[in-house]
Amino acid sequence: MRVLGIVGALLIGGLNAASSQTVISDSDEPSLYTYCQRFQTLYTQIREQSITPDSARMQFSRIMHGLQERFHSQESFQQDSIQRDSLRRSGLYFNFPIRGYSPSAIGGKHGEGYRGTGFDLFDYTVRGSHPAQDIFIVDRNQDVIDDRTGAPVDILAVTSGLVIGIETQWKPGSEYRGGNWIWVYDPILHGLFYYAHNSQVDVRPGDWVQGGQKLAEMGRTGFNAYKSRSPTHLHLMYLQIQPDGLPQPINPYPWLVSAQLSK
Ligand SMILES: [Zn+2]
Repeated sequence: MRVLGIVGALLIGGLNAASSQTVISDSDEPSLYTYCQRFQTLYTQIREQSITPDSARMQFSRIMHGLQERFHSQESFQQDSIQRDSLRRSGLYFNFPIRGYSPSAIGGKHGEGYRGTGFDLFDYTVRGSHPAQDIFIVDRNQDVIDDRTGAPVDILAVTSGLVIGIETQWKPGSEYRGGNWIWVYDPILHGLFYYAHNSQVDVRPGDWVQGGQKLAEMGRTGFNAYKSRSPTHLHLMYLQIQPDGLPQPINPYPWLVSAQLSK
């Protein structure tokens, strides 16, 4: 995986600098950073319901196809579905997303907090599903400081990937549910990880992150997560991109149970 990380970094190298430089390219293809910008814009439109679910679906699918093509032109990201399945079965590929915690912090018995049916990423009015795992820390007074260590808690990347969207402006009183979130595209799995309710976000769209790298600090941002009835947690979702470019949630519980832990 280390080699892949280096290739990823090379492929994406200088992305954040790109916006302030004139990049000469003989290709008409949009850059990876352009896809990040499109995703960020689209996701904001979905949340504000300023785009119809159907056209959101179409745009999402285009962005995902674009990302897939850009990465798959690199030899190291060419994976067939058998290779992908064996990676997904291998715990070695995944990192537990909270430093200092283990699978016992996952809500519910055996990950039963996951409810995938009825989920629609493109329709903000659809509710009731929870295609995610909530992972809790010890924070009885809800100050987002770990009661055991007296320090904030690091949110880590489950796998390596490209940060394609972030929110950092959530304020108490806002009705938005995810709070300060991060979306990371994993080009090997061809899927998206979503990390919600963070306090501080330490990455930007266009950043390449390694599995296990710090993304954020855990928070209580988000309409429901901010309420005192909600214990402090990370909301982690994984969406597998289908051949049509549309997302299908997968329960990440088996990955989390066998994931590598960080102290
Ligand atoms: Zn949740």
